[in-house]
Amino acid sequence: MFRDDTIAAIATPPGRGGIGVVRISGPGSLEIANRIFQSQSRASINPNRAQFGHLFDPAAGEQIDEIVLTFFKAPRSYTGEDTIELSCHGSPVVLRRALEAIIACGARIAEPGEFTFRAFFNRRIDLAQAQAVSDLINAQTEYQARVASRQLGGALSQRLAPTKQSLIDIVVQLESSVEFVEDDISTETISLLLKKLNEAIAEMTEIAASFSFGRFIREGFDLAIVGRPNVGKSSVFNRLTGSDRAIVTPVPGTTRDALYESASIGGVPVRLIDTAGIRETSDLVETIGIQRSRAAIADADITLLVLNASEALTEDDRRLLAEVPVERRIVALNKIDLPCEMNSSVIEAIHISAFTGSGFDQLTTAMLERLSGDGASERDDTMITDARQHEAIRRAVERLEDARDLIVEGEFEEIILLPLRGALSLFGEVTGETLTEDILNEIFSTFCIGK
Ligand code: GDP
Repeated sequence: MFRDDTIAAIATPPGRGGIGVVRISGPGSLEIANRIFQSQSRASINPNRAQFGHLFDPAAGEQIDEIVLTFFKAPRSYTGEDTIELSCHGSPVVLRRALEAIIACGARIAEPGEFTFRAFFNRRIDLAQAQAVSDLINAQTEYQARVASRQLGGALSQRLAPTKQSLIDIVVQLESSVEFVEDDISTETISLLLKKLNEAIAEMTEIAASFSFGRFIREGFDLAIVGRPNVGKSSVFNRLTGSDRAIVTPVPGTTRDALYESASIGGVPVRLIDTAGIRETSDLVETIGIQRSRAAIADADITLLVLNASEALTEDDRRLLAEVPVERRIVALNKIDLPCEMNSSVIEAIHISAFTGSGFDQLTTAMLERLSGDGASERDDTMITDARQHEAIRRAVERLEDARDLIVEGEFEEIILLPLRGALSLFGEVTGETLTEDILNEIFSTFCIGK
């Protein structure tokens, strides 16, 4: 994917705005800038300074705009190459003309993610950080943005570093004992190796476990809210998502009758599966709809079963309680602001009122805890949010366990080294050092143009 040429793209989103930015990166950046830009004071373009001036179309000899130009000299730029940023007036027409003038001077239009790929290729950032750039741009909740921002700072790579170093030490030690065959590894050394290996396995297992919650941060989770009509399902959902209700767009779901809405709970994106209408019926069409709703509940990550505390438990309530498996449901006893008519002592439920808002903190916490599963303690620490990274770490743990078994069995060093080297290579997949070009291309092609 890497080509040593000069690329350009509009970096701001399509549409009108106060400012629009066009970016150029590569060895020809400065030369192109000199042909299309004239500073107010006729001074030459200086590195690491913003300069006011005029943007020209050299072919037509026409002024395009008044702009601010910033020159980031290699290697102190985002991509690690000479980079020019033109802050123009944010009109699509102006930005397109600016880009055309740059292309006419010899630059090429950048592929999606190509600026970030160059940053990765020039070792300004590693792959985990590059993916965090994309996650940060795509973040829809503050929480997603915070996690991506931490990752961008290199949190994951830094956390992996000591374990990686420890593995390298083990490999070096085993390799040297291969060379000096006469020196058998002492029992003392073996127990030290095993100790280091066990520490690495424990640490990596903990990081891998964070994916159980991390994946929901990136991908969101499916929530089905079920209950009889009028128990307060809509009111509960509105309260839960509250001001967090980011993008409420009813879009038809994959099944014809289920409707999905997107919002966020505690900063985690959620897709609500609207299951209105689960009840006993003899109507055939309705029965089919209900079957689909049931299928949607079966797929949901969490099913919130809402009961009405101001009425006695009904047959329909009992049927729902029996239908949704305990391990996948959270029961909310709503309308506790009204006189209680329900004997709720038999059901483990969170007492809430969508009317006053009481109990919703506990309800949100219960949902986040349910999502985090075993990775609960990891919630505010470094987190794996990407399936590919998780798979690499999971497989690395397997290799380390293989190596441990081989040491315990008293195998030769050469044999033990195989899974250890495999684990190190998998570490490299997280940071991008040992990935093939195909996979890298695939990852970067999901980025937006101009980043
Ligand atoms: P759904 O049919 O289950 O979605 O129920 P809705 O959310 O439409 O609510 C049904 C009725 O119950 C509405 O009149 C709500 O204002 C009322 N309601 C919902 N939650 C509460 C609550 O916590 N307390 C009280 N007093 N009324 C509620």
